Amino acid sequence: MCEGNGLYEPADVTDHIVPMKQGGAKWNELNHMGMCHSHHNRKRGLESHGHCVVTAVGTDGLLPNDREEIVNILLAKDRQNEDLWID
Ligand SMILES: [Zn+2]
Repeated sequence: MCEGNGLYEPADVTDHIVPMKQGGAKWNELNHMGMCHSHHNRKRGLESHGHCVVTAVGTDGLLPNDREEIVNILLAKDRQNEDLWID
């Protein structure tokens, strides 16, 4: 399931919550999140505008300190129906 809104959409992407190019852990499941393409693209849009989640140091790279953080940001953007920040 896509965790971008937590409910209905099937996931078709395994997202790295902390992107690997920002030092995110590649294999640690704590850094993985199932997402639909729509939410994944939105998340990448945020990242391309410099957004970073708060991170914690894991054994093979950075992990999200709170995996709800990105979900809450995406939900807030959904509520605002704001798409200007999407590439
Ligand atoms: Zn989604």
